[in-house]
Amino acid sequence: MARCSVCGAPAVYVNRATGAAYCERHFMEYFSRRVRSTIRRFRLFRSRERIVVAVSGGKDSLTLLHYLVNLSRRAAPGWEVRALLVDEGIRGYREYTVRRFERVAEELGVEYRIVKFRDELGYTLDEIVRLGAERGLPYRPCTYCGVFRRYLMNKAAREMGATVLATGHNLDDIVQTYMMNILGNDWEKVVRLGPVSGPALHPRFVRKVKPLYEVLEKETTIYAILNGFYDGFEECPYARLGERWEIRRVINRLEEQRPGTKYRLLRSLLTAIDILRRAGVATEGEVGTCAICGEPSAHPVCRACLLRIELGILEVGEEKLRSLPKAAREMVLQALRLAEKRRKKSGG
Ligand SMILES: [Zn+2]
Ligand SMILES: [Zn+2]
Repeated sequence: MARCSVCGAPAVYVNRATGAAYCERHFMEYFSRRVRSTIRRFRLFRSRERIVVAVSGGKDSLTLLHYLVNLSRRAAPGWEVRALLVDEGIRGYREYTVRRFERVAEELGVEYRIVKFRDELGYTLDEIVRLGAERGLPYRPCTYCGVFRRYLMNKAAREMGATVLATGHNLDDIVQTYMMNILGNDWEKVVRLGPVSGPALHPRFVRKVKPLYEVLEKETTIYAILNGFYDGFEECPYARLGERWEIRRVINRLEEQRPGTKYRLLRSLLTAIDILRRAGVATEGEVGTCAICGEPSAHPVCRACLLRIELGILEVGEEKLRSLPKAAREMVLQALRLAEKRRKKSGG
């Protein structure tokens, strides 16, 4: 059995890339050191913040919430930590994760809010996926979920008075996304994969940070186990339909064969971001406003509004259409034409 590299007690975790092993106590120290170094190095938080943690209900975001609440009580009195969960309404998955979230939030004594797709959009994700299929839309469930989730997160966090929104993305998530963006030749997305998103200059945009940026998924799992909120129930039923699923398998296999692959991918990403920024690929900073809903958007009409138009769950009346600026009107008309064409093709 492996022994803790610090004190020689039985180890609960071995980091195969560095060869270091940790007992329970020294694992918690190691974890904390790792996250604090990310926070410092990338200046994620200022001394006074209202941090809203975006909780998905999975182990990563619960770990982040647990860690930040404890850190704020121990060492950062200027931080006020709250939690936000977006309930997309996936049956057989969400009910359970909501209950687990509420239990952890109550144990921590942290204020929280739950925002539902059903209340905000009029439909659950399950219903949206069905509608999209009926209308012949080419999107995967993860597309709808991702777009609407980000949209509602930003809106709800702002309403909660957040100065910063923290998400539970871990190192594995980041390098998977990096790989997906490379395969899609999408360098504008790579630029935005740093631990801080922004600085987007829009009064309605909440700055987003990823404190678990340099923490392996395996490490958040161990943190969650040691703190009593991991029970193996994790997986979103739609996950296997996404491209991410395959990429994740490939990277995990590489890591097994050559420990340290994930760290090397992360270093490669940070180098790429640096090169792309200097080459002027960065598109951050200038963010416009969606002509329909008023939320921050890179385009005249935001992605969430366009998707709702394509799904037929957002009506844009004649009068509203006439009142829109030309570029926005054209985007709406194009989305409507496309939706009509698809509907005919799918015979609906
Ligand atoms: Zn130890
Ligand atoms: Zn919009």
